Formats: sequence, C-alpha cells, structure tokens
Amino acid sequence: MSLELLLRAGLWAALGAAVYGLILAVPAVGRMAAGGRVFRADRRGQALAVGLMLAALQCGGDVGFDRPTLILALILFVWAFALRLTDLVERLRILRPLAVAVLLLLWALFITEPPLASLKVPFAAEVAALGLVGWVVSWVWLVLFGSLFARAGTTVGVAPGLSIISGVTFLIIGALRPDLMPPHGFAFAAALTGAGLGLAPLERYLFHRSSTAGAYAVGVAVGWVAAACLVKNTALLALLLPLLVLGMPLFAAVAPAAAQRRRRIIERPGHLHEVLLSQGYSSRQVSGVELVGASYLALLAVLLVTIVEANWAIKLAVVVVWVLAGLLLGYVAVRLLPRAVAHHGPAELRIFGLRLHALTMAEAMELARGWLRSGEPHYIVTCDASGLVRAREDEEFRQIVNHADLVTADGAGVVLAAKLLGLPVEVRVSGCDMVENLCRLAAEEGQSVFFLGAEPGVAEEAAARIAERTPGLQVAGVRDGYFKPDEEPAVVAKIAALCPGVLFVALGQPRQERFLRDHLAQIGARVAIGIGGSLDVLPGRKRRAPVWMQRTGLEWAYRVCKEPTRLPRLKALPRVVFMAFGELLRGPSAPDDEE
Ligand code: UDP
Repeated sequence: MSLELLLRAGLWAALGAAVYGLILAVPAVGRMAAGGRVFRADRRGQALAVGLMLAALQCGGDVGFDRPTLILALILFVWAFALRLTDLVERLRILRPLAVAVLLLLWALFITEPPLASLKVPFAAEVAALGLVGWVVSWVWLVLFGSLFARAGTTVGVAPGLSIISGVTFLIIGALRPDLMPPHGFAFAAALTGAGLGLAPLERYLFHRSSTAGAYAVGVAVGWVAAACLVKNTALLALLLPLLVLGMPLFAAVAPAAAQRRRRIIERPGHLHEVLLSQGYSSRQVSGVELVGASYLALLAVLLVTIVEANWAIKLAVVVVWVLAGLLLGYVAVRLLPRAVAHHGPAELRIFGLRLHALTMAEAMELARGWLRSGEPHYIVTCDASGLVRAREDEEFRQIVNHADLVTADGAGVVLAAKLLGLPVEVRVSGCDMVENLCRLAAEEGQSVFFLGAEPGVAEEAAARIAERTPGLQVAGVRDGYFKPDEEPAVVAKIAALCPGVLFVALGQPRQERFLRDHLAQIGARVAIGIGGSLDVLPGRKRRAPVWMQRTGLEWAYRVCKEPTRLPRLKALPRVVFMAFGELLRGPSAPDDEE
C-alpha cells in the first residue's frame, strides 16, 4: 500500500467522521435555534466534527479527489444531513427511501451507469447488463441496506461498528485483490471506516444514544460501496458479502421466530438485538454480539476472495460450513454470557420436563431456614447432568424429583443445558457446598444433623471434621450406607428416634432419592437432602477440585482425573447438550412429560 493511498484513506476517514459527527450534531443546533438547553456533549461533538471536516477538506486539496468520489461524498453528506433532520420528525421516515431516489437521480446527472449496472449469473461466467432496470435494482438494494442498518442501529454502537467492519473488509479485499476494486472504491471504503470511527465514540461516550437516521445513512453508504465498487468484477461475491457482513440484522428475523416457536405463539417479528435486550443482556453485550458476528462473517468474505478461483462447489461448502459453525458457536457463546436476571426469590423452571429452581446458595439457605422452623419435612434434590439424563429415562426418578421441595443445579452440565435453553440459571448450588451451609444453619437454629451413607467409617470422619469447623453443631448420629434391604426398616427407625432437623443421605442417585420418598415422612427431618459422594470429599479422603476449577465449571474434569472409574459418567455431559438442542428444535417438554 503506497503512502499516498494511506494518506487518502486517512483523509477520507476524517471526512467520514466529520460527516457523521455533523449528522449527530444537528439536533443540538435545532435545540439552540429553538432556544432550548444545549447539552455540553452535543456541543463538544459538534466542535469535533467541524474541526475534522475542515482538516479533511484542507488536506484534501493537496491530494486531489477524483470527480465521482467527490460528488458522491457531497451528495451523501447533504442527504445524510437531511436524514438526520427526519429523525426529529418521525413521521417523515418515508423521506429516507425518497432521499435514496434523489441520490440516484443526482448520481445519474454525473454518471450514466447506476451503481448496480450488471449482475453476474451465479455459478457462470456471464455478466448480465441490467440497463434501466439497474436503477430500480439499485434503489431496492440501497433502501434494503439502509433499513437493515437503521433497525440494527437502535442499539448504541452497532451501526458505527458495522460500518467499520464493512469498510475494513472492503479495504482488505482491495489490498488482496486490487483488480477487484476501482480506484475510488478504496476511498469509499476508507470513508466508510472513518464514518464508523467518527460515529462510534460520539454515540458511546458523548451522546449515549444511537441515531436511526445516521444508521440508515451508514447502511446506504455500505450498500453503495458494495454495489459500485465490487459488482462489476465479482457480482456473486458482492451480493453475498454485504448480506453476510450484515448477517446480524438478517438472522434477527430468524432468531425471534425460533424463540416464538418455543412459546408456540407468533407475535411481531423482532431483531436479534431486541430479543437479546428483552432477555436481560446489556446493550453493551448486545452490540458486542452483533459486531463479533459481523466480523466473523466479514472474515468469510475475505476467505471467499482469497479462493475466488476455486470451484463453485468448494466455495459453497465453505460458506455453508462457516455459517453453520458460526451459528452454533454464536448461540452457545451468547447463552454463556452472564445476564442481569430480575430476582424475585427462587424462580421455578422446567428443564427437559423436570422442575429446577434458579437460585443462589444464600436463597437456598433462607428457604431451608424457613423449613427448619416450620416443623414439616422437606426434601432437596441436587441435580447434575447424569440426573437430567436419568430423569429422562427413568419415570420413577422423574416423579421423585418433580415432587421435591427444591431442585438445585448441581454441576456445570445442568447450568450449561439451562443456559442453552435460555433459562436464567447462573450459578450451581452443589450438594457438597450445601452440606457445609446446612450444618452451619442447623447450628444457628439449634437443630441436630444426621449423616447416612458412604463406606463404614467415612460418615463418622466427615461428621467429626465438620463439627470441628462448625461451632455449636449437634451431630445426632451417623450410619454407613452399606446395609441390606431387609435392614432398611431398622435404619429408618434408628434415625426417626433421633429426630434430626437435617438429614444428609449419601447413597448415590437414585437410591438416596428413593430412600427419601419412602421414609422421610416417618423420619420427620425438616430438611433432607441427597448428597451423593459428598461425604467422601468432606473428610479429605477425596480432595475436591481447586476453587478455580469449581468456579469455571471444570470440577467434573478434576474428578475424572482423580477417579478414572467415573469416566463413563462423562457421557452425560454431551448428552445434555444434545438434549438441549433437541428441545430447542422441538419446543419444551411438558411438565411431568409422559414420553
Ligand atoms: N454408597 C452407599 N451405599 C451404596 C452405594 C453407594 O453409601 O450402596 C455411597 C458411596 O460410598 C458414595 C456415595 O454413595 O459415598 C455415592 O457417591 P457417587 O460419587 O456415586 O455420587 P455422586 O456424587 O456422583 O452423586
């Protein structure tokens, strides 16, 4: 890239920044004229924009603009300026497509060909001249781009971001294949980048709002660059490329449809950013998602240009694989983002026809405190990925879980599946952590605890360890979990006689849950919980994973490394992911599903 080209790019970028700065500054002038209060931010933005504009024009004289680019810049500037005014009068939105028509008419005065003068027949070498129809096609094309951008542009940062991404993509393509780009195409692309660069900080830091009309103008500019600069040589790519770069607003039409199918209601179609905002993602996250998605698609455009000579079947395969992989990865990534969830106590959710409560450990303890004071028996199920799979296959287990007073997400697999389904589960509440917390709670409430389960000696050791750490804890008793079915009534009678406030049952799933269903009423513990292998971990026989692994949802990996016999259980993880995607496609299972 020569110095002159770089200089030109810089100048056009500055000009673009100035244009959009001015577009945003118009309301401030309007308010000033009307004697209203002018926000300091507006004034600063205006000063910055005017400064940049003057600098760009001053330097521009030395480099020399060619006629078509200068004319286009001028027309775009005047037109975008007028559009910004239409932002003030919402009802004049119809002016935007009219403005595109005027832009094309002015263009026709100087240049005889419309921006979209010809189309390459897909998968063939022929190029079809469009003639007069080209003006109509160009109008539709530009209005489509403007509208898509305007819709996306209602979230702060999206329109300028898309403008930068499109501009940079065109610049990269121009650098890779100069033969695909006429000289003024380079200036257009740089102006587009600059427009975005100018608009982004103004929107984000000065105005804290987006401009729909500004976004519309950016959209038309992107459409223009795509049509005027690329179509003649690589029409197929040019048609694909901007649509792909703009994929986010297009996907937007699909995403809510899928979301609504899940609810089996067809409401008004929305855009991706509207759906995400309504689901509790912040506007910063939403614009991030849209821009990362657009960048991903822009990379595809660059990739397609580098393999432009390849067979069409290969190119098609690249597009399909890239887009499908992007959709899948994007969906998972979005679902993993933390969301602001309105908290009104524990939310009861449904996952694969199973009840699940979205709550924090503190909320779980508040519930348990109430139960300890109530005098009635309650039981808690901690559900991990294998529990979800088991519940799907085992009707009896599903019924037990669905009758529990509390079902917590115990494990990264459950949190992941819930997030993939868009359920507001942010944290895991594991059985192991519950043991420590329930013991502390029992001590505070002056109630005793009983530990049932694990190999002989383990429960004693665990009880002793935890009693050391928990002042005031009364251990009513312990019993190992290796008793025969005919010994069960005696075990139950022994526990019932001790009247523990909290009963921990570590017999493994589903035996512990069945035990609670059959005997809790007789035992009468106010809070009972199945805790799987937690007793083995508490005395330090088996170490728990380091805290960072627990926090990042990797505890399962640690446990498998330590106990390779657990390896077969891992198949529950991919299964719940498949189950989640299956449910997304099919719609949610009914509660207590009788499949
Ligand atoms: N266990 C028991 N009696 C039995 C079978 C198992 O007490 O008849 C105990 C076993 O010693 C272990 C716990 O139940 O402490 C099951 O632990 P696992 O790791 O299988 O459960 P998870 O934590 O995966 O739910």
